[in-house]
Amino acid sequence: MGDQDDLSAEFDAVIIGAGVLGGAIAVELARKGMRVLNVDKASAAGAGSTINSCAIVRFSYSTAPGVVLAWEGLHYWTDWPAYIGTDDELGLIEFHQCGQFNLILNEDDRSSKVRTLWQELGIPFEDWGLDDLTERTPFLDHGRYGPPKRPDDPHFWDDPNGTITGAIFTPDAGYISDPQLSCHNLQRAAEASGAEFWFNAEVTSIDRADGRVSGVVLADGRRVVAPIVVNVAGPHSAVINQMAGVYDSMKIKTRALRHEVHHVPAPQDYDFMANGTVGADDDTGIYFRPETGNNVLIGSGDPDCDTRKFVDPDNYDMNLSQDLWEAQVLRANRRIPTLGVPHEKKGVVDLYDVSDDWLPIYDRTDLDGFYLAIGSSGNQYKNAGAVGHLMAELIEAVESGHDHDTTPVVVTGRYTGWEMDVGFYSRNREVNPDSSMSVHG
Ligand SMILES: Cc1cc2nc3c(=O)[nH]c(=O)nc-3n(C[C@H](O)[C@H](O)[C@H](O)COP(=O)(O)OP(=O)(O)OC[C@H]3O[C@@H](n4cnc5c(N)ncnc54)[C@H](O)[C@@H]3O)c2cc1C
Repeated sequence: MGDQDDLSAEFDAVIIGAGVLGGAIAVELARKGMRVLNVDKASAAGAGSTINSCAIVRFSYSTAPGVVLAWEGLHYWTDWPAYIGTDDELGLIEFHQCGQFNLILNEDDRSSKVRTLWQELGIPFEDWGLDDLTERTPFLDHGRYGPPKRPDDPHFWDDPNGTITGAIFTPDAGYISDPQLSCHNLQRAAEASGAEFWFNAEVTSIDRADGRVSGVVLADGRRVVAPIVVNVAGPHSAVINQMAGVYDSMKIKTRALRHEVHHVPAPQDYDFMANGTVGADDDTGIYFRPETGNNVLIGSGDPDCDTRKFVDPDNYDMNLSQDLWEAQVLRANRRIPTLGVPHEKKGVVDLYDVSDDWLPIYDRTDLDGFYLAIGSSGNQYKNAGAVGHLMAELIEAVESGHDHDTTPVVVTGRYTGWEMDVGFYSRNREVNPDSSMSVHG
């Protein structure tokens, strides 16, 4: 770092946000030899929305580029100690590779489309019939209850109208035990290559000079001079874009969406931590995975019957709501009838940074030197390693004069060798009709 005086410092790149994506980008830029500063208004890495992530690693995306990025991203988790490449006094994360099943409702449903993509791309998976489901998940009811409903819908408790047909199971899927720890691991990896992290450091304005970005100003008056600034502010991405004056120049916008995840004890006498898998059920509109203490973590598949609550990221209700608790836990009860509804609500409330089509934006902007890794839409935790690589290659190419808006940069996956067309994630794309328009991406 080239300190100029107490209130001013100079770096090659400033990354706004030390969540899982900001941390991964810091690692890659620092390993390219750049002097990187990561600033975060929170007091530690991963204390933003990443801390409450379900951290599920899965490949069930609705587009081929979505599957490719997630499959490339998987390899960072399986190779984590080597990728991090340094010690962390807090230890390294654990990747629980318990597998994931996606229930198949009929041959035209989303899971069947995912199955076709997996076949085309060669993602390993198993077809499960109902007998396989019974053997692997004995607590699961096979009825069809959809489309997902509110518990006050008079048809919520109707008898099933047929049965699901089976599931596709990916053994390589799973979840990360401690998403905040993964950010600390990334911080230590980036620091090992010379990056700095400043916490309690809130960006309040973004500087321009000579027609490009020239740095950021912090709430305490410090000014950081840098020719590259990357917006990785998670649910605050739109606030930062407005600060930078680029918000209106992008076709795809981002907004903060409030979400709840609930934890309930696993069915009695079933060791869900040891034998449970991740499960996705579009019929009841939920997904679930094992959670510490032999709990079942229940998340929402964003069914149409639930009102989406877009909020001010600095002013929203952080308490679990009775309404959503009942909706999600009762939906889970339709699929797992022995679950029950505990009296005490448990879980987390946090924000997704949702883009107009629930696909992320990994791009440059109309302001030279100002880049975006935003719109992660509740589904980009798993991709962090691959996104770090992709963003660093994009930044290097554009800063070397590549016209990414005309000829999008293509990045070759470090582990898979698969090509990732960064133009797919453009800020100026049309809304992608192939997206699930939900957390499934
Ligand atoms: C409840 C929930 C469940 C999820 N489940 C999954 C899942 O199972 N699998 C999956 O792949 N993804 C999941 N996601 C999505 C995933 O967690 C996010 O995509 C990912 O964590 C985003 O990381 P980030 O680094 O972009 O954002 P964040 O972790 O939110 O980091 C942004 C950082 O920017 C900082 N910041 C904001 N404004 C400023 C400012 N002005 N100055 C300085 N710093 C600022 C914040 O303090 C914050 O730390 C889930 C998300 C949520 C909320």
